Amino acid sequence: RIIKTASSPVLDEIQCKKVMKEYGINVTKPVLAGSKEDAIDAARRMGYPVVMKIVSPQITHKSDIGGVKVGLKSDADVKKAYKDIMKAAEENAPGAVIDGVSVQKMAGKGLELVIGMSKESQFGPMIMFGLGGTLVEILKDVAFRFVPLTGQDAREMIRQVKAYRLLEGYRGQPPVDIKHLEELLLKVSRMIEENPEIKEMDINPLIAYEKGAVAVDARIILEPDAFK
Ligand code: ADP
Ligand code: MG
Repeated sequence: RIIKTASSPVLDEIQCKKVMKEYGINVTKPVLAGSKEDAIDAARRMGYPVVMKIVSPQITHKSDIGGVKVGLKSDADVKKAYKDIMKAAEENAPGAVIDGVSVQKMAGKGLELVIGMSKESQFGPMIMFGLGGTLVEILKDVAFRFVPLTGQDAREMIRQVKAYRLLEGYRGQPPVDIKHLEELLLKVSRMIEENPEIKEMDINPLIAYEKGAVAVDARIILEPDAFK
């Protein structure tokens, strides 16, 4: 069992990505910082540009409250982002327990996708795949398959979404690494199978490239009886 130390049903981004990394899922690794100085130190170590995000078990939609700053290119940017994030959290999420701010490398531009899992069906957990970002909510262009996924499930669900044309490369845009996405879906399926205490999870967005893909945000919610 990988998830054994959770003290809350909502894992933060740092905990989620740790679990995902164990399953071979490529992630941008967040480093927790408790002060401006720590954040600058972390950013210098990993190299600019970086992204900073609020870390709080009560805040699952971080950018909604002003808790995400992307494209930070200098110590001064990091210092300002730290202040702005803390201020935004105070104003927009009063009472939330703030563990700090995380610093991670800014991933390059690519196609934003989403992979999720829910247990709403009485027949067990389902994995969802589709276009990411805000488009996913509007277009509902997603495919579902039951866990455990087969190789054929993974191939089919990617090809089933209308956005598949974008994945193949559209109007001069390069194609994305579809083989990598198929393997990624199988890794997610294995993670769900081996950790039945996961109630819900999503990677939103996963940024896909001509070669490979990276999970830049992750969310896991545990079953109510899975933590102490
Ligand atoms: P939330 O979904 O909780 O609001 P995210 O971590 O998804 O917060 O960040 C919001 C947006 O910022 C993402 O959809 C993505 O476009 C961008 N983003 C987040 N982290 C990175 C990163 N490491 N590299 C590049 N872009 C990022
Ligand atoms: Mg997100």
